[in-house]
Amino acid sequence: MAKAVSKPQVYEGDGKGPLYADRVKIHPRNFNGPFRKWKTILLWIFLGLYHLFAWVRWDRGPGLPDQAVLFDLPGRRAYIFWVEIWPQEVYYLTGLLILAAVSLFAASAIAGRVWCGFACFQTVWTDLFMKVEHLIEGDRTKRIKLDQAPMSLNKLFKRLVKHAIWLAIALFMAVSFLWYFNDAPTLTKNLLTGNVGGWTLVVLIVLTSLTYIMAGFAREQVCFYMCPYGRFQSVMTDEESLLVTYEAWRGEPRMKGAKDIGTDKRGDCVDCGLCVQACPTGIDIRDGSQMECIGCGLCIDACNTMMETLNLPKNLISYDSYTNMVAREQGKGKQVHLIRPRTIYYAVILTVVASVLVASLSMRDRLEVNIIRDRAPLFVTLSDGNIRNGYTYKILNMESDDKTYELSVDGLNEVAMDVIGQDKKDQKTLTLHVPADRVGAFKLFLKAPRGKLEGPSTDIDFVLKDVETGEIHSQSTVFRGPK
Ligand code: SF4
Ligand code: SF4
Repeated sequence: MAKAVSKPQVYEGDGKGPLYADRVKIHPRNFNGPFRKWKTILLWIFLGLYHLFAWVRWDRGPGLPDQAVLFDLPGRRAYIFWVEIWPQEVYYLTGLLILAAVSLFAASAIAGRVWCGFACFQTVWTDLFMKVEHLIEGDRTKRIKLDQAPMSLNKLFKRLVKHAIWLAIALFMAVSFLWYFNDAPTLTKNLLTGNVGGWTLVVLIVLTSLTYIMAGFAREQVCFYMCPYGRFQSVMTDEESLLVTYEAWRGEPRMKGAKDIGTDKRGDCVDCGLCVQACPTGIDIRDGSQMECIGCGLCIDACNTMMETLNLPKNLISYDSYTNMVAREQGKGKQVHLIRPRTIYYAVILTVVASVLVASLSMRDRLEVNIIRDRAPLFVTLSDGNIRNGYTYKILNMESDDKTYELSVDGLNEVAMDVIGQDKKDQKTLTLHVPADRVGAFKLFLKAPRGKLEGPSTDIDFVLKDVETGEIHSQSTVFRGPK
């Protein structure tokens, strides 16, 4: 593993040397090329989706939020288009996270840290902040000069404008994040009229500060020291994975400014350093594959610019697999294997997890029942000799319509039921109403003659029937009595 420009110094063990070097500020140079172009296109697509998705409306019927994607924490629901997830169904969100993780592993097996280089929010926001920096302070040379220059009115002005725009972007990112946890138009209106609670302000300040610090200052340090993915990415790639690779066999021996020396004496690398100048993490890819490389491909654009100028074949640095590079070095044909056991495993896992998720979502029950039996006392002997048990009966109506149910009990002869809140006593069947998308909690009492019990514990079933559809939901419990 090669040493990066801003990598920590190795501790020599003399007890005096520093454990970590100061960060060396990186001033990436901009080069045009396909990787830069795709990074910019994806940046605007991802930012557009992030900011606009919360404004997409989705009609779920009266009384329900009409925001397509909403994580309603106070209401304990997640709404993702037509899917509504209740707290007890949080495993669906876990399933989505598993899908995302396996997709990341699959992408790594195919093209290394392509996620880091093009789609990770740290990369996207840092790229945006760098664009602002470039716009205000100029290209790499001008930025370095400005950094080294003493404070002046011009420098102060540029710095103030840059930081003000950074802060505005960071605030916008934070507001957009909160949109997914609130009704976006209402939150925006409340923010504009100053009608927001203390916690909303705290979250806004924390998120704004984090974005401002991470994208404005910490940048590549987040990838080096904070993100665990870069640390274990090497176990997800193999010799067939496409990684940003310098073709040492073609580039070496490198010679600086050796345009006029025959290529039989030198490699194609002229040691111009453009690949290092372009790198947002400040590394030299010619030192080999490195943990600090986020696979953004900007060094490829930079090197191709130089190769074009020198009229040499492009792709001295390229997205290539180790196997293919060796094959080309030996003059063999192209050997890129995207379909191989590792990628097949990931494809199978992805298909299985996605199928299970879709199948269970489409077949899930929209009615759930919980029964909690009273334990203190286990039973009561009434003055007429009958035995009474108490239950808390909860009906989760996950439909968007109000529901009426009929509740009866199986397994106990001559049972009578009472529910707190209803005047009718000793009923054989109870009628229960639960509004749409609500939990109905009912306190029930069951009464049975002592002689009808099987013993201290009689198995019974609560049978709940949807009056409208006739659907039946049955759940077992016990009726306790004396020995
Ligand atoms: S070495 Fe190249 S691909 Fe890797 S981070 Fe630097 S510029 Fe991006
Ligand atoms: S940009 Fe290309 S030619 Fe220039 S130093 Fe890097 S690898 Fe060598």
